[in-house]
Amino acid sequence: MSSDLVVYDTTLRDGAQQEGMNLSVADKLTLLPLLEAYGADIIEGGWPGAIPRDTEFFRKVTAEGVLMRARLAAFGSTRKANVDVGDDQQVQALLDSQAPIITLVAKSDVRHVHKALRTTEEENLAMVEDTVAYLLSHGRDVMVDLEHFFDGAVVDRDYTFSVAETAVRAGASTIIPCDTNGGSLPGEVQSRVAELIDHLAERGLSATIGIHAHNDGELAVANTLAAVAAGASHIQGTVNGYGERTGNANILTAIANLQLKTDRKVVTEQQLAEHTHISHAVAEIVNIAPYGRQPYTGVSAFAHKAGLHASAIRVDADLYQHIDPARVGNDMRMIVSDMAGRASIELKAREVGLDLSQRPDVLSEVTKRIKQAEAQGYTYDATDASVELLIREIATGERMSFFEIESWSTHLSGSSSESNVAEAVVKVRTGRGRAVTVGEGVGPVDALDQALRGALAPVYPELDVCELTDFKVRILDASAATRATTRVIISMSSPHGSWATVGVGRDVIDASWEALTEGYAYGLFKAGVPKR
Ligand SMILES: [Zn+2]
Repeated sequence: MSSDLVVYDTTLRDGAQQEGMNLSVADKLTLLPLLEAYGADIIEGGWPGAIPRDTEFFRKVTAEGVLMRARLAAFGSTRKANVDVGDDQQVQALLDSQAPIITLVAKSDVRHVHKALRTTEEENLAMVEDTVAYLLSHGRDVMVDLEHFFDGAVVDRDYTFSVAETAVRAGASTIIPCDTNGGSLPGEVQSRVAELIDHLAERGLSATIGIHAHNDGELAVANTLAAVAAGASHIQGTVNGYGERTGNANILTAIANLQLKTDRKVVTEQQLAEHTHISHAVAEIVNIAPYGRQPYTGVSAFAHKAGLHASAIRVDADLYQHIDPARVGNDMRMIVSDMAGRASIELKAREVGLDLSQRPDVLSEVTKRIKQAEAQGYTYDATDASVELLIREIATGERMSFFEIESWSTHLSGSSSESNVAEAVVKVRTGRGRAVTVGEGVGPVDALDQALRGALAPVYPELDVCELTDFKVRILDASAATRATTRVIISMSSPHGSWATVGVGRDVIDASWEALTEGYAYGLFKAGVPKR
């Protein structure tokens, strides 16, 4: 099945503008395969030249060739006013990023040309024309975001359309009208996009028309669909609708609506069935609690209150839901979640080389344990190593064990230094006897890590190449009926791959300790070390 719409993901650029979101280069690299897996055709990685971390990200992505299918886009602006395009450093940084696609933002509202750019209408058109032509001459596919398009068209339609026309005449393959302030209504968007398509056609011009909508009126997805209805064939958005203020169009909702409610083919059915998992995994990586009532992918999206409807739902579930939740990888919690849970666990087991299709008892037990753990605050969407250890433990009847912790403690040392020096003492039993080690670190978790490494290093030299790459803390909802208050996700990597584990506890140290010991156990397992 081939797609008839281009899906342009801007989670890593516009989505990362969300208040409180702070993505490292490593986070962005971790997100890439998830963005590809939901069906993004183009992934906008950031603004090289303007943001140093983004420059680094592009260097890594292009050097390591990590993208399997999607094409990479770099975002930037047209050249500065009254500067030769070849002398504009920001434009040069876009070329240096090596991204095959460059998406330029161009002012298309005359008020912004005067007040924000402080230049003339003619110079703004020249900036668009020069920059598009220059990047094109360097072999790039150039797309142009028409900033404030819909608001601009209300004030001075002719000028707004002339910016669009200039971009197309200069060679832009795609132009994207943007509802930058997010206040437009679907009817306006639909008629304006249709008008733009006619305007270009009347002049013998053609280009792919896109849509970039913000959610200030809670209409970003509706406006995306309205633009598609008018003939747009390139949709921009972010996973879970991340973005500044109230966010961007949630690309997952837009895709599900188009694919399941209209005759558009946007992604494969397999990709669509990954959406719930991807929505949750991305939320874990960006460290923002998933929104339970999010359409299609939220945990409550198909949940029914038991009672009046229960027996009717058992007879015909379709009477009470707008789609079959399995199509987006979700499930109807009340009745079928056990079955759906089992299917995904069987799949996960097969991924790690265990065939559980003939072992319904093991599947039931793993499902039960995962549900219990989730109720306590654990999460398994982005912590594959913890899931694998649990499946292996239940399938083989024994815990993956390389060392046994006798006790551990931490305290802040009484040094005069103002830096936060912590000490940890760990008592561990390994195949070679008992070890008591002290670790020092910049905080208690670092100190525990140092102490544990110290204890294990003489017995397990394999851990030398295990690196703690990331550490995420989430304070859990205090209203939940659980005593655990903190969840920690730890990411590690070694030449054998990278993995993540989860721990839950009364405080961050408690939770970290669990995630840390599990992370090292998994690292030893991956290195082929025999169990104790
Ligand atoms: Zn935007």
